[in-house]
Amino acid sequence: MRFYAKPLARLIEELGKLPGVGNKSAQRLAFHILSMSEGEVKQLADSISEAKAQMKYCSVCGNLTDSDPCAICSNPSRDPRTICVVENPRDVAAMERVREYKGLYQVLHGAISPIDGVGPDDINIKSLIVRLQENPDIEEVILATNPNIEGEATAMYIARLIKPAGIKVTRIAHGIPVGGDLEYADEVTLSKAMEGRREL
Ligand SMILES: [Zn+2]
Repeated sequence: MRFYAKPLARLIEELGKLPGVGNKSAQRLAFHILSMSEGEVKQLADSISEAKAQMKYCSVCGNLTDSDPCAICSNPSRDPRTICVVENPRDVAAMERVREYKGLYQVLHGAISPIDGVGPDDINIKSLIVRLQENPDIEEVILATNPNIEGEATAMYIARLIKPAGIKVTRIAHGIPVGGDLEYADEVTLSKAMEGRREL
């Protein structure tokens, strides 16, 4: 980056830290930003700081939100008897795009992965258990973790924990490609996966 003056080099470096942005893309974005008007650049910068300042995690489900509880948890038309367990807030967004699921969510913020040193206590499982204990009306827990090794291990762990309590535990069907990510699934695939969920 020795060809670039310091401020530009720094912008490229920061942009390059973003996921999916390689050095070439970072340079392209940086040059594009410099070609924008000052007003546009301010809007972009403000949107980043504002989102960071205002977004938080819902104290009930763990989803990203600007109000607590989140819009889904506080919506009286959602069915509180069903909880769909997903790995991250992006999966909630993916499920919501399908518009078929009317229950609530539990966002784990990760999956069990012994190789990466992530155990059950490192993700949001404990609060799911507390939630189930405090809400005896919950009838079904749908495990919609990703269909990869970590997601399967997490689903199995949770199923073993809560099945003895007499709650129906289902796992989404594998319309989702094995090894794939829920958030990248198209709506039809995701909808089929929900339909074909099976009891664990
Ligand atoms: Zn919530």
